[in-house]
Amino acid sequence: MQTLAPLSPPAGLSEAEATALLAQHGPNQVAARRPVSLTSRVVVQLRDPLILVLLVAVVLTLVTGDYPDAAIIAFVVVVNSTVGILQELKAEGAVAALIALTAPAARVRRGGVGRSIPAREVVPGDVVELAQGDIVPADAVLLEAAALLVDEAALTGESVPVDKTVGPGDAPGHHVSAGTVVVRGRAVARVSATGAASAMGRIATLLDTGPGLTPLQRRLVGLGRVLAGVAAVLCVLVGVLGLLRGQSLELMVVTAISLVVAAVPESLPAVVTLALALGASRMAARGAIVRRLSAVETLGSVTVIATDKTGTMTEGQMVLEHLWTPVGEATITGLGYGPDGEVQAEPSTDLAATDLLAAAALCNDASLEAPTARTTHWTAVGDPTEAALLTAHSKLPAERRGTVDARRVDEVPFDSLRRRMSTLHALPDGRYLLTCKGAPEVLLDDARLADPEPVCSAARGRAAAYAEAGFRVLAVAQRVLDGPPDDLPGAETGLHLLGLVAIADPPRLAAAATIAACRDAGIATVLITGDHAATASALARRLGLTGPDEGVLTGDDLAGATTLAGVHVFARTNPEQKLDIIAALRARGEVVAMIGDGVNDAPALRRADIGVAMGGRGTEVARQAADLVLADDDLATVVSAVEEGRRVYANVRRFLLYGLAGGSSEIVVMLAGPLVGLPLPLLPAQILWVNLMTHGLPGVALGAEPADPGVMTRPPRPPGQSVLGAGLWGRILQLGLVIAATSLGVGWWAHAHELPWQSMLFVTLAATQLGVAIGVRARPGTWQNPFLLWATVAALGLQVLAVTLPWLQDLLGTTALTLPQLAAVSATAVVGYAAARLQRALTPD
Ligand code: ADP
Ligand code: MG
Repeated sequence: MQTLAPLSPPAGLSEAEATALLAQHGPNQVAARRPVSLTSRVVVQLRDPLILVLLVAVVLTLVTGDYPDAAIIAFVVVVNSTVGILQELKAEGAVAALIALTAPAARVRRGGVGRSIPAREVVPGDVVELAQGDIVPADAVLLEAAALLVDEAALTGESVPVDKTVGPGDAPGHHVSAGTVVVRGRAVARVSATGAASAMGRIATLLDTGPGLTPLQRRLVGLGRVLAGVAAVLCVLVGVLGLLRGQSLELMVVTAISLVVAAVPESLPAVVTLALALGASRMAARGAIVRRLSAVETLGSVTVIATDKTGTMTEGQMVLEHLWTPVGEATITGLGYGPDGEVQAEPSTDLAATDLLAAAALCNDASLEAPTARTTHWTAVGDPTEAALLTAHSKLPAERRGTVDARRVDEVPFDSLRRRMSTLHALPDGRYLLTCKGAPEVLLDDARLADPEPVCSAARGRAAAYAEAGFRVLAVAQRVLDGPPDDLPGAETGLHLLGLVAIADPPRLAAAATIAACRDAGIATVLITGDHAATASALARRLGLTGPDEGVLTGDDLAGATTLAGVHVFARTNPEQKLDIIAALRARGEVVAMIGDGVNDAPALRRADIGVAMGGRGTEVARQAADLVLADDDLATVVSAVEEGRRVYANVRRFLLYGLAGGSSEIVVMLAGPLVGLPLPLLPAQILWVNLMTHGLPGVALGAEPADPGVMTRPPRPPGQSVLGAGLWGRILQLGLVIAATSLGVGWWAHAHELPWQSMLFVTLAATQLGVAIGVRARPGTWQNPFLLWATVAALGLQVLAVTLPWLQDLLGTTALTLPQLAAVSATAVVGYAAARLQRALTPD
């Protein structure tokens, strides 16, 4: 164990020096990934199999001299690739902006004061402060180190954390490297290298993982291939049938190709990327910052939210309200972390209460900050539990407050495995004082206490009573030693019990509403805490998480438990058990969002489907391990994020319903046309045009639909469900048949009456599809997502122009329609709209 250097903290660089050094050495970041060039983005777009098919079609039409068709097909290729690239850029920009919001921070001393700055502004020569849960911002030489334990796995792959001490020379034991994690203890260090010159910079290339596809995107790529295959077979069929009827080979080949392109929703990737990116920005606006795009969709399928207690279910504002000593009890008044309030006790208890609080203030790493213009009230710096102890100590009358003259020479910081903390102090008389505080079950043990059994059992009884009343309970004990122990943890025996403290952490009443909202949405809330079972269950009942008879499972019971079903509260768990609980829930098929903020939570955050960290009070490691960071530390924000996730998923399904219904209707029209006496219902260019009009803007606009009103009163989708599951296929075919029947009906009738049937069918096919787009809106009858309305109107307008403007008539092979004819075919939009609304009324999601 390392001895603390006497504290005369180095003042660090001045701001001016730091600015100069920043200019000289550059920002503390590993070289940014090289931006993808526009050419390679275009190549990626053109490599898409569907686009390749189109390019072949362009060549084919050019060879046969069919220039209008070639132009239209080329236009489709250009529009599609442009939209694809724009969406990609937009999504990348959104994600980069979000990542920047959760960029790592570092605490440095500049000009004698401690400040938090973005880690990228750290310069060589800076004095950085490190505490448990921090990610080391740059390579640095230790100036002070207390029980420092560092996890260097990111750098060396070595999973066992290493002790670090202050020392001469550049032995690895005396310095810390960028990117490693402080698992325990604290330190002050002087930065020796930043950015690419640091250890992290030298291995940065290993960490460069490109943005992968999200699971939804991967599944859709698979779906796209299947659809392309199905469409291809059908189109060959259309082509062959046409040939058998004596159509020209080139016409039928181009028709078949156009149909493949039209039938497959090639804007699907763009829509999905847009929906995910929009979802991520909307979540950020609501305080939930996603660090991976795929988290957006996973959030929509969350079935369990596993949360910690302090600060999530409670205010995280700890107030010491009662204390117990072997000679009597005391009550402490006052709110918050300020010194207003007093310790009320019988005079006979005064001395014992003072000793107890003095020890609690010694075995303490927190500090209290007086109100400033910004904060207006006293705030806790460090562990709120420890800050509460300091506050109580500050409420003692001035003459009893004088802390013992005891320089700290050694310490074992608190960790949730040992559930206790000890400090060793040098007394003026040359002897040493060991103070220890921790969970009552750990301290009130014959092996640790030298007190007579009646005292111990009285303390145990009192601790249990406090816990049942919902208090967080700590026991405090101490011991005087003649010389410094070789091994501080080994000396935590033969202690003399000073007493117990009961700390109130009022429940966050808003959490009760959040838990209820989750229940409505079919999401179970599970509380996992290191605190006592009685404290946890008192809180869980107050928040309506559990009923009066529901039990609590403790970490020790976990191994023997056969099922976790129905358990809502896990108490006295250590970090490994948290991991086990998450694994067990996932094995049961749950999709788990896990909230955590400690350094020990990082593995569980990674193990969960969605790791959630607190932006305000969480540790840096937890934030960097998380998929979602809550800017406002509020549980309700997770629920908003889930709502956004569900909305994204619903919009992708909405687009699929719309796009595939339209695509299948086009195939049916071409297949069934000859049966009603229309040998070639539409020309290739016309098919492509309809496709461009309907799937273009209106299709993409569907990705921005609001959440439908019932989205949070339905259970989550089953995790294994396909995007086309839950009856979507059936609904696609129904709408497809309605669109096809309407179009063919109009075409057949017009043909029979010797009207320009092809142009009428052409407009009808587009109008009914656009009607469907309006009909599948999430909130019909409102003005939400006006973009969709405008896009639909614009598309219909362009469709009308396609039969009116002479040059478009030439290009598309259409003929002019009279005004009544135009009005009639445009009005078929109502049929599509009615069909979509009727379907939703009959088969709601
Ligand atoms: P949680 O944060 O879920 O309440 P912890 O693991 O932090 O759980 O705490 C477990 C127990 O350890 C607490 O109930 C308390 O008795 C004790 N404890 C908590 N913080 C400290 C500390 N700073 N020093 C000593 N003991 C502590
Ligand atoms: Mg804690």
